[in-house]
Amino acid sequence: MFKDIIQKLYETQNITDDEIKLLIDLPESEAAPLREAALKRRREYYGNDVFIRGLIEFSNYCKNNCYYCGIRAGNTQVERYHLTKDQILQCCDTGYTLGFRTFVLQGGEDLSYSDDDICDIVSSIKKAYPDCAVTLSIGEKSKETYQAYFDAGATRYLLRHETATPDHYAHLHPESMSLENRKQCLWNLKSIGFQVGAGFMVGSPGQTLDCLVADLRFLQELSPDMIGIGPFIPHAQTPFAHEPQGSLLRTLNLLSILRLMFPYVLLPSTTALGTIDPIGRELGLEAGANVVMPNLSPVDVRKFYALYDNKICMGDEAAQCIRCLGMRVKCVGFRIVEDIGNVRRSV
Ligand code: SF4
Repeated sequence: MFKDIIQKLYETQNITDDEIKLLIDLPESEAAPLREAALKRRREYYGNDVFIRGLIEFSNYCKNNCYYCGIRAGNTQVERYHLTKDQILQCCDTGYTLGFRTFVLQGGEDLSYSDDDICDIVSSIKKAYPDCAVTLSIGEKSKETYQAYFDAGATRYLLRHETATPDHYAHLHPESMSLENRKQCLWNLKSIGFQVGAGFMVGSPGQTLDCLVADLRFLQELSPDMIGIGPFIPHAQTPFAHEPQGSLLRTLNLLSILRLMFPYVLLPSTTALGTIDPIGRELGLEAGANVVMPNLSPVDVRKFYALYDNKICMGDEAAQCIRCLGMRVKCVGFRIVEDIGNVRRSV
């Protein structure tokens, strides 16, 4: 029965809600055909290429208080930092030498950077590295602000929707935040012309199978270029400190489902996956992922950007990181490419 559902998903990129639920909870003993179908699809679109994104965590200040996040405003125990433009450019310089052609500027919703500051940072990176893409991942902004970022040269934006179910959204976020606004931001980004990334945590507190189905249906509506998913991992200084972490198997099943539902999509094998299992990122690639995001942030600030506990690669210099990842990627039959790594919507 599972094989028929997988074949239907492979051929039509769609299955019913009940069939999705069956595949999400596919036992490991039955998962091989799902992995094989996802791999076949990923090879049709991306061969054995794995794109690398240089992640620069440039600020851990945030005005928000998401209940799952280690750098939420309410966490008074975290040491806060933000990088200067020169420090960010230094990270890009290191990354460029190592073969990175995409830089992802990620941070909390830090009010100390004005829109002009962000635009200046983006345009300075584009000026210094015109053959590179700049991705922003700095949260919810007005449409005008997004437009200004785009005009300054940022062409990609990551904003996980986290959950497409309103009650679940309210369980994960304070009242000041709304799913409606989060979705509107994603639509605004799309209409401006950004390559957009959405996504969610697997196993976040209160998440049901129905929530996950709603997430996939929302993604079908949005048709993003990138989809970031990773297991929920609790952080000790959050209200969810004692919640169980998300399951490796469920995350891998969802990666394979996403690859089959969105054959073209840029799908990272996340650091969170590598945190819950020593070979989690390799398993993610084997499940259909085609992107890895090594950290280019200065080593001395990395420990302060802990969205969850026990995050890996905190002490590795960027060069060590990319060497290690290169070997891991090679071990499972793929290769890291020096490429801007645009989405391939068709084969
Ligand atoms: S998840 Fe993002 S917006 Fe929410 S508190 Fe953390 S950094 Fe801020």
